Amino acid sequence: MARDDAYVERYSRQLILAEIGPRGQERLAAARVAIPARGAAAEHVIAYLAAAGVGTLAIAPEQRALVDPDQPGIQVKTLPRHERDDARVGFDAVLVDADAAGDVVRARRRFWIADGRAAETPPCHDCAAAALGAPAAAPDTLAPLRDALLGTVVATEIVKAILDVGAPLTGRVLTYDATTATVTTTPVAARPACPRCAAA
Ligand SMILES: [Zn+2]
Repeated sequence: MARDDAYVERYSRQLILAEIGPRGQERLAAARVAIPARGAAAEHVIAYLAAAGVGTLAIAPEQRALVDPDQPGIQVKTLPRHERDDARVGFDAVLVDADAAGDVVRARRRFWIADGRAAETPPCHDCAAAALGAPAAAPDTLAPLRDALLGTVVATEIVKAILDVGAPLTGRVLTYDATTATVTTTPVAARPACPRCAAA
């Protein structure tokens, strides 16, 4: 696909990286990610994916300000209301096949952040809670910072999925305890017959 000078200049650092390069940048440009969530985690994921040049971001209308309208190669779609209202957990990002209107047609990969934990389904957040128990509570002052870090982690996982590099964060749950500055990853299997994990 031909790209103009503004596009090449904007993504020049990634275009020269061996791990991304022109082919990887085209994959990012062709990717569609729906983020039916609000809050610090979602905001960081949106900002990082936009910076990486993910071509289509389906987000809530009030989050459009997170994306520079002059940035080349990015389309922002408004999530349909039923998707926006389906925020069962604090954060859910979905790498999707979507139609031109941004409607989610089929989720290919599903990522989540909830209560200081993050993973790619499977396991889902319910299976993580069943295996790991109640999460450690974070003080109100730390929770947005904790979620920002997890947003960065999940943005990285989404870029890895798009580029098909590295080992995915599936079958494991990453936990970040901001009060002790501790990051752990714990193997967690999906519960038998969990519908959310079965759908992933
Ligand atoms: Zn599950």
